[in-house]
Amino acid sequence: MKRKANKKYSKFNEYYDVIIIGAGLAGLSAGLQLGLSGKRCLILEQHNLPGGLATSFVRGPFEFEATLHELQSVGTAENPRKIRRFLDEAGVDVEWIQVPEAYQLVLPNQNINVTLPYGIENMIEVVEKEVPGTRNKMTKLMKVCKEVMDSLNYFGEIGGADKLSKWEMLRNHSSFVKTAGYSAQEVIDTFELPQKAIDIISPYWIYVGVPLKRLSFTVWAYLMGDYFEGGAVVARHNSHAISVGMDKRVRELGGQIEYKTRVEKILAENGKVIGVETAAGDMIRANYVICGSYPNKVYTKMVYPKSEVPEIAYKLTNARNIGVTALCVYLALDAPPEELNIESYSYFVGDTMDTDLIWENYKTLDPPNYITTIVLNKAVEDCFPSGTTEMSITALPKPDGWLNVKEEDYYDIKRFMAKAMIEKMNDVLGVNLFAHIEEIEIATPATISRYTGSWNGSVYGYEHQVWDSLVGRMSTERQERYIKGLEFAGAHSSIGNGYAPAITSGRKAAAEVLKAMREGGNN
Ligand SMILES: Cc1cc2nc3c(=O)[nH]c(=O)nc-3n(C[C@H](O)[C@H](O)[C@H](O)COP(=O)(O)OP(=O)(O)OC[C@H]3O[C@@H](n4cnc5c(N)ncnc54)[C@H](O)[C@@H]3O)c2cc1C
Repeated sequence: MKRKANKKYSKFNEYYDVIIIGAGLAGLSAGLQLGLSGKRCLILEQHNLPGGLATSFVRGPFEFEATLHELQSVGTAENPRKIRRFLDEAGVDVEWIQVPEAYQLVLPNQNINVTLPYGIENMIEVVEKEVPGTRNKMTKLMKVCKEVMDSLNYFGEIGGADKLSKWEMLRNHSSFVKTAGYSAQEVIDTFELPQKAIDIISPYWIYVGVPLKRLSFTVWAYLMGDYFEGGAVVARHNSHAISVGMDKRVRELGGQIEYKTRVEKILAENGKVIGVETAAGDMIRANYVICGSYPNKVYTKMVYPKSEVPEIAYKLTNARNIGVTALCVYLALDAPPEELNIESYSYFVGDTMDTDLIWENYKTLDPPNYITTIVLNKAVEDCFPSGTTEMSITALPKPDGWLNVKEEDYYDIKRFMAKAMIEKMNDVLGVNLFAHIEEIEIATPATISRYTGSWNGSVYGYEHQVWDSLVGRMSTERQERYIKGLEFAGAHSSIGNGYAPAITSGRKAAAEVLKAMREGGNN
């Protein structure tokens, strides 16, 4: 029998202004934004702790960071960027630590081993040293990237580019307008840089997971501008500290968060949201739901009754390409970084920098031909017990290969892949890491899918291709509100993947709800 939320022993009120599904970064930031506006929100999270992917786990004396390599858009205390400004304004207390350099790129087959610093000019100087004669072209390319980034940030501040006239767009945002319809490769090619220079500046594509020929230039430009101008940070005490800090402030601002509470149904009536039903059978009313689950799951499994989902919702959701998932090897090593020849915080290591070839490889169960490795001690010296090293080695495969793995083969395959990834780092460092392993954990697409419930284990939502990128999504997002009062927040929403976008998307979803409330929206 179904339980009603207003029963005597229920922890729920009968009605909330907004219900948020999931206490990942997106859900928590939506909760913060609503709390700052004095709205009564309820966050329901299936796990017993906040953060979703922004979390850590413990093995023996080691607390491993689960996901955070580099958090962009934070900046410094003196020069704060949008994420720091928002979290400061919301009163979230996090100790940020600057990541020391952008990355060390090692491409043994091309004799490339170069470390790129943060700071656009510094980076251009290193590229010039490696590939003489590129300074002017790189300066022009990075100018365009920065202009695109500034335009996007401005659109965010004013609540969307649709607030501007065509004339204003052309006059003040011409780099954005001129490049918005092109792939990263198409725009980069117009600068006629030597291939070696392109290879050296390409590694960040993997943080979006779409090859340069199909990746929207807008997204690539934002990444380049934001990382190289603003640098990146991590949190002392791991990303868990960010999630816990956000959880604390949501509650202080009047929000309610309930853990171990999975939402099973989003209830709708006459095209409008009317509440949710939990796995335990609680029915809780709200006219607005902000959802951290993927639209694929929401439309096929969660909206109730199904007749409330229009055909077009299935069609559009299926038209989108689900993004990459992750394969991650976490290592606790019994020696400090200097004894393991580790020089950098962040390594990109590849057999090639041809993003199409990497992409094809990532669809298979062959050992990854491109990996990214983080050594957290190089930013947070005391992240692990003294004399040990925290290393994570990551590949970002497409779900394709992993979807067909048979249960009986699963453990062999994940060990085979992990071994190959560690061997790649052995070659780079000239050290046998196997001899130093104190603890090892391997997360596969199945781990991620099971933990977050994301569709096919996607960590980046849908692919940001030219036809389905920020620009396209933002121009159609109003038509894509198939059920009144239902907003999406998270990697799968219009803004896309990563910590900063997840936080921004939560704020954006909350802003949409507040706007609808002001306009008398879903009543
Ligand atoms: C290995 C790895 C490394 C990464 N590195 C970086 C990095 O360096 N920088 C970066 O910016 N990004 C990185 N990312 C990506 C980043 O972690 C994610 O894009 C971001 O954390 C997504 O946040 P989210 O809130 O959208 O989703 P999630 O973190 O998936 O949170 C969703 C939450 O909703 C809950 N939930 C789902 N369905 C329900 C339901 N029905 N009922 C109740 N609760 C529900 C889930 O349990 C989860 O807690 C990395 C990801 C991985 C896997």
